[in-house]
Amino acid sequence: MTKVLQNVQMLNEQGELQTVNIAMVDGKITEIGQNVNVAGAEIIEGKGLVVAPGFVDVHTHLREPGFEHKETIATGSASAAKGGFTTICAMPNTKPVPDSVENMQLINGLIKESAVIRVLPYGSLTKDISGEVRTSIEELKAHGAVAFSDDGVGIQLASTMYEQMKDAAQHDVVVVAHCEDNSLIYDGVMHEGKRNQELGLPGIPSICESVQIARDVLLAEAAGARYHVCHVSTKESVRAVRDAKAAGIRVTAEVCPHHLLLEEMDIPSDDANWKMNPPLRAADDKDSLHAALLDGTIDCIATDHAPHTVEEKCCGMVGAPFGIVGFETAFPLLYTQFVETGKWTLKQLIDWMSVKAAQIFDLPYGTLEVGSSADMILIDLNKEQTIDAEGFVSKGRNTPFNGWVAKGWPVLTIFEGNIVYQEAE
Ligand SMILES: [Zn+2]
Repeated sequence: MTKVLQNVQMLNEQGELQTVNIAMVDGKITEIGQNVNVAGAEIIEGKGLVVAPGFVDVHTHLREPGFEHKETIATGSASAAKGGFTTICAMPNTKPVPDSVENMQLINGLIKESAVIRVLPYGSLTKDISGEVRTSIEELKAHGAVAFSDDGVGIQLASTMYEQMKDAAQHDVVVVAHCEDNSLIYDGVMHEGKRNQELGLPGIPSICESVQIARDVLLAEAAGARYHVCHVSTKESVRAVRDAKAAGIRVTAEVCPHHLLLEEMDIPSDDANWKMNPPLRAADDKDSLHAALLDGTIDCIATDHAPHTVEEKCCGMVGAPFGIVGFETAFPLLYTQFVETGKWTLKQLIDWMSVKAAQIFDLPYGTLEVGSSADMILIDLNKEQTIDAEGFVSKGRNTPFNGWVAKGWPVLTIFEGNIVYQEAE
């Protein structure tokens, strides 16, 4: 049966909005244009709404298996669908870790059972993400690993990273790194700068991240590997990635919404809803992340959606786990703060959240064209709403953005031709 998304505003190559109809059959886009025949089709009316490709998030934590009290694949994927995402990559810091064929199959089964959108699992780089015994990239790739990462921790030993990069190069998969040198964490819970001293909390210096990126880009060069840096947060990290790209090293990078929106001085108090890893850095770090997105040093935006329970986040930064949720607030916050203010175009933001992310992993998603998977969202750019963590579909309530007012809310999400989220009337 043909379905037609009718009277929607779609961006053209020049970044202008044009009214079109989009037809889909069997989960694929079959026609886009002003004169699409709608006779006999099921109509989805989209007048006054912008259509975009379903967003692609290459850095998410769904917590299942093992930590279902924080999130499940069902709640996490539904939260993503509400935020406009139709393809998400799930980090492997679950229990068990997808570090063997057996565990990979277990996770694939769970995804098949309960995901409402496309969930692509990472394989881990080392057994149990302990940084010691290397996994089989060949086997895990054959069983569906989209890419490889030990996200949550840095790989401490250069030789372990180097050997896995060589294997990854051989199998043409991307090594995705959370960069953190354990000898430079100093038990920190926020950025080592001005605000941590005011609050009397231990700080994580910028070099904790940047020195490992500098190491890894040289390892990637030697191994001939494709290397992707998670959640870049410091200006020195930006410089290392920029220099590596200029040298022809195959490096890509992502930035998280919170690192673009917030800085250390915004942290109001010893409140763990402001604790994430890497931490909110200084104002000049934030400025360098913006410049890096605009000049292409940073390739895409990823949420690092990291749900935790209220109890885990209740009692100050020192005892709390790192991480904040991100799916349901990412687009409206970025749209309001940077597109409405004229710093970015709408096309830039949508591209950073869709096709640019997909390209890093050769994923055939994040585009709106005939033949594409019918993964689309409708956005109401004029809808203004106050962020209320209590209303999240995610189990997580851990966000520093509670109470912020934002415009530009996804109101309908289509995955493979079917509506998987629709705003309540
Ligand atoms: Zn990480």
